[in-house]
Amino acid sequence: MNYSRQRELILRVLHNNIVHPTADFVYELMKKEIPNISLATVYRNLNQLAEAGIIRRIESLDGAVHFDHDTHKHYHFICIKCNKVYDIPYDVAPDLEQQVLEKTGLEVTEHDIAFKGVCPHCQNHN
Ligand SMILES: [Zn+2]
Ligand SMILES: [Zn+2]
Repeated sequence: MNYSRQRELILRVLHNNIVHPTADFVYELMKKEIPNISLATVYRNLNQLAEAGIIRRIESLDGAVHFDHDTHKHYHFICIKCNKVYDIPYDVAPDLEQQVLEKTGLEVTEHDIAFKGVCPHCQNHN
């Protein structure tokens, strides 16, 4: 399987299956379609897609690297009970970077913010 078809498949996996999967998760799904693919190949493809700005690497969640097909600015929320990662729209705090600049003089070029707590699903299953 050539490189562009691998990338196509990875992007399809990211879009269709789960938001914010780890490389291991992507690998498990890809193995079903390409039984001889290696984890290293999946990692390399994911990192290259992230470097090209097509997907985003998120490292602030739970120690594992996750990948996100949504490259627009947004925040994340990780549930401490089910470990599911939720997107939080950027407009909950659209001026955060501006405020950091005004209050500290530090110019933010990117951020990787993750809130932690309990998701609605887990709140209802106590
Ligand atoms: Zn939860
Ligand atoms: Zn996201």
